Amino acid sequence: MQKQKSYLESMPNSKGFFGSFGGAFIPPQLDKPFAEINEAYEKLSKSFDFISELKKIRKYYQGRPTPVTYCKNLSEYVGGGQIYLKREDLNHTGAHKLNHCMAEALLAKYLGKKKLIAETGAGQHGVALATAAAYFGLECEIHMGEVDIKKEHPNVVRMKILGAKVVPATHGLRTLKEAVDSAFEAYLKDTDTQMFAIGSVVGPHPFPKMVRDFQSIVGIEAKEQFSEMTGKLPDMVSACVGGGSNAMGIFSAFIEDPVKLYAVEPAGKGDKLGEHSASLTYGSEGIMHGFNSIMLKDSSGNPAPVHSIGSGIDYPSVGPEHAYLHSTGRTNVGLCNDDEAVDAFYKLSQYEGIIPALESAHALAFAMKYAKENKNESILVNLSGRGDKDIDYVIEHYPIPKK
Ligand SMILES: *Cc1c(COP(=O)(O)O)cnc(C)c1O
Repeated sequence: MQKQKSYLESMPNSKGFFGSFGGAFIPPQLDKPFAEINEAYEKLSKSFDFISELKKIRKYYQGRPTPVTYCKNLSEYVGGGQIYLKREDLNHTGAHKLNHCMAEALLAKYLGKKKLIAETGAGQHGVALATAAAYFGLECEIHMGEVDIKKEHPNVVRMKILGAKVVPATHGLRTLKEAVDSAFEAYLKDTDTQMFAIGSVVGPHPFPKMVRDFQSIVGIEAKEQFSEMTGKLPDMVSACVGGGSNAMGIFSAFIEDPVKLYAVEPAGKGDKLGEHSASLTYGSEGIMHGFNSIMLKDSSGNPAPVHSIGSGIDYPSVGPEHAYLHSTGRTNVGLCNDDEAVDAFYKLSQYEGIIPALESAHALAFAMKYAKENKNESILVNLSGRGDKDIDYVIEHYPIPKK
């Protein structure tokens, strides 16, 4: 008898579709290089050498496994369910993004590429990729909107110290969309020696699948650690969603288990277009950045302006697998606004001694609301990153609350 394929084996299909979402809507010149990446990935992801090299990197360079931490004080303060954190803030560079960047760079090395190329919005992906490039001795070119370069100065400096070249996108609104255009243009000039490295479970096939698989280490570790600590599975898992890579990383281990999965979207400062970036909540089906998903559109059908206090989650679309899992009812959407995220940021700092990234604080804030209403449940939050990058902004705009 043939064994039935697991969810992860069967999704996406060979064309990169999760139901109707995903695919590769790219200019014809990109067909060949993306097919090359896909073939290499399919082969290498099953090869002993690639897998064991990646395992060594995870352990001896990134410092994995990252722990699961039980938040005793915070759970008592909330007075409901029990809150646990998967500590991606303790992954090297302080966030989950290095999990897929190290693997993408390893893939580039196996393919004999010389240079990694990517766009970045707030600079987090740029920093993680520049780190991976330094480790593997690859060149690194990061395209970034001129406006973002001014706003995210510390990350620009980090990228430069790590040896990356930062290329400003100077056309249009000079932010993320223009950076994507600029990076693709530079990539198209030489697809033989350069590899494009996307920063989340977004973009054309095979990136949503590849990045999910590279992030799945988070879920694999967390499931084992949580079971060891408590003797059971969590009742609910919460993760913030921008593109959705940290959420897919932790969700992927629990998809076929009786565990509730909450993708937490940024409700920003209001429900009008431009005030939030809650794509699954308010968006509709459409194609952008080379894939079909649920996106926020303006009146002419273009990607809408978005806002979130978490600069890594203000994206007007969402990874296609999230669109699919939400459409089938397997995942639920949670909402968290700017103020709730800052409140959770301070609470975790004061009650547990952990300063979270504002992005991760969204997942935590939602978990705290949920814990209040579900007193007998245990909740696992993916703490996607640490908050050092956010402290100046928070202290300038939000007074420190009394404990
Ligand atoms: C970039 C980033 C995110 C958002 O990216 P996803 O692909 O949605 O996971 C979340 N948290 C932190 C700390 C980040 O740097």
